[in-house]
Amino acid sequence: MSVSAARPPESALPAAPARKTLSPAQQALRKLGLVRDIDLALHLPLRWEDQTRIVRIADTRNGDVAQVEGTVVHSDISLQGRRQLKVLIDDGSDQLELRFFTFYPSHRKALAEGQQVRVRGEVRGGFIGRTMLHPSFSSVEAPLPEALSPIYPASAQLPQAYVRRAVQSGLQRADLSETLPRNADPYPHGPGPYQPPWLLADALRFLHHPTADVALATLEDRSHPAWRRLKAEELLAQQLSQLEARRARDGLRAPLLPIATEAGALPMQLLAALPFDLTAAQRRVVEEIAADMARPAEGGEAHPMHRLLQGDVGAGKTVVAALAACICIEAGHQCALMAPTEILASQHFEKLVGWLQPLLAARGRQVAWLTGGQKKKQRSEALALIASGEAALIVGTHAVIQGPVVFESLALAVIDEQHRFGVAQRLALREKAGGHIGGAPREPHLLMMTATPIPRTLAMSYYADLDVSTIDELPPGRTPVVTKLVADSRRDEVVGRIASQLAQGRQVYWVCPLIEESEAVDLVNATQTHADLQEALPGTTVGLLHSRMPAAEKKAVMAEFSAGRTGVLVSTTVIEVGVDVPNASLMVIEHAERFGLSQLHQLRGRVGRGAAASACVLLYAPNEGGRVSEAARERLRAMAETSDGFEIARRDLEIRGPGEFLGARQSGAALLRFADLEQDADLLAWARDLAPKMLKFDPALAARHVARWLGTRSEFLKA
Ligand code: ADP
Ligand code: MG
Repeated sequence: MSVSAARPPESALPAAPARKTLSPAQQALRKLGLVRDIDLALHLPLRWEDQTRIVRIADTRNGDVAQVEGTVVHSDISLQGRRQLKVLIDDGSDQLELRFFTFYPSHRKALAEGQQVRVRGEVRGGFIGRTMLHPSFSSVEAPLPEALSPIYPASAQLPQAYVRRAVQSGLQRADLSETLPRNADPYPHGPGPYQPPWLLADALRFLHHPTADVALATLEDRSHPAWRRLKAEELLAQQLSQLEARRARDGLRAPLLPIATEAGALPMQLLAALPFDLTAAQRRVVEEIAADMARPAEGGEAHPMHRLLQGDVGAGKTVVAALAACICIEAGHQCALMAPTEILASQHFEKLVGWLQPLLAARGRQVAWLTGGQKKKQRSEALALIASGEAALIVGTHAVIQGPVVFESLALAVIDEQHRFGVAQRLALREKAGGHIGGAPREPHLLMMTATPIPRTLAMSYYADLDVSTIDELPPGRTPVVTKLVADSRRDEVVGRIASQLAQGRQVYWVCPLIEESEAVDLVNATQTHADLQEALPGTTVGLLHSRMPAAEKKAVMAEFSAGRTGVLVSTTVIEVGVDVPNASLMVIEHAERFGLSQLHQLRGRVGRGAAASACVLLYAPNEGGRVSEAARERLRAMAETSDGFEIARRDLEIRGPGEFLGARQSGAALLRFADLEQDADLLAWARDLAPKMLKFDPALAARHVARWLGTRSEFLKA
């Protein structure tokens, strides 16, 4: 084959000499995920500038970005103050001064007296005298562009002109043929008069180079029909990829876990032994989980459950997990329960041992404890119990799936307080489950528990491959927590409040802030607070828990507090969110303005667990500028106004936006760039309806569509 017959390279980077190392600009593009022609074509401008028109100097106002043409009437280098080139131009309507602090001989030449120039920049000042700092300038002979000029995100490594060229060539080379099924319902055209749907190619070309007659506002608020086309495309790609993920899971198998309801069966025994009745919501979610694990798959066994159990702090998720574990154990398998920290895990362990150990012992089985920080001997004992199957329930940190742990038969994994289990972790779990069932890889059922509910719109779009169970009711007898915002200057009053709680035999949490993620500074801060409180509250034991303590020490401090021997617990480790000490009735959060909304909500959930009236004090301190940021103020306001976890999550999403809310990396999901879940709900509904039909009737077209939009990012679907 001759060399000339070879296909051009896939890459759309502007014709670069063939060499191994990429230029900084090429690397910067790559970092943005702009590799293929289509990636570049889909890289849309941040904003647009109108360079199609020349305006009269007299018509410009302060703050306008304007393009004017005039004759240079004066040009010199001023040495007054900072050295600068000052140029005065006149267009007959008025004059405009141009200033350059850095300039070259070429500037002086192009801007010499008598020259005609076209300049563009931001106008400062008004009728007393207009100025432009560092305007761009060109010859008046250059033809004016006919379309608005796109402005792309740029940086020092990635100059605007380079991005423009790259995008332009990507746009020219990319395959922009239609991938929306021709005979399907067109996407809804939205409010306003009817507009026929746009073709993708037209929409993209338009958005990169809009005609000058377009209302800029419709481009900027993304309501223009060309935008709708792109949003529809994007939402469809996302729905398709979610469905694919679900289908991939359908190819996997997990052990079938039938529900045993006779009196002697483990779940029934646990229910009978519990000191309380389940709430209606708890009963409902247990049934959802049980039904999921007992649903036979085609060809035998079951599909692995992939379920999120959401319930506000204190809603009672642990007992639901325990019941799911009982179902799994009764069917002859093992269950692993993991928490993100050792303290949380050990709390679960104690609770589960209390509930289950007597029942398991009668069957010759037990609950095992496994963490990274364990002594060698204990660890190998635990590993042996797990390998033989004698350990029916294994509780620990994520070390449970990371280490060289071999299970006899792992059928259910429960993960607490983690927004979403990553792809890598899921693959690790599959390895732990081991083997195949009827030719399909075997995976345990997965139950993820979270107190940070996923707002409905997110659940519908990002988590289409996830089933959700919700505990929407708290156990009876809880008293609502009163939340107070208190300025840091009134700290003394708060200490008085602590004293009165202690006098009533109650306990208090005091949480110190995270300062710029510097553990050392946090520690100083917490140590000081600890000393201050100890001094202010003579006769009270004040405990200190910080992130740098060894796990064993943390556990000991926590145990003292749980047992009621410590009155006040000062803590920096905000991660220990699942702790359960019903006697604690007051939570003080210092520098509350520095915490995230869901963190604050989680922390507040540590109190109000008993019958006593409980309170949460959010101490806030203005920063040096004397201000609390707008976002921080909104968070504090939300905390004071509601204690409903769903409302909190909704506001959190509003304040932070979905990208941050989910944590792009953690979610593994490709985030939406163009569509807005609330604003484009009609397009989302359309995409949800179309996606399954498209997969069924034209899977090849669906695959092309997903590849175009997600490209390599759809890798995550393989897990
Ligand atoms: P979370 O959902 O925040 O993990 P937990 O599982 O820690 O909540 O439960 C909080 C407390 O409520 C625990 O002490 C638990 O034993 C108790 N609890 C759970 N369910 C009920 C119930 N139905 N009635 C009374 N108390 C319950
Ligand atoms: Mg919990």
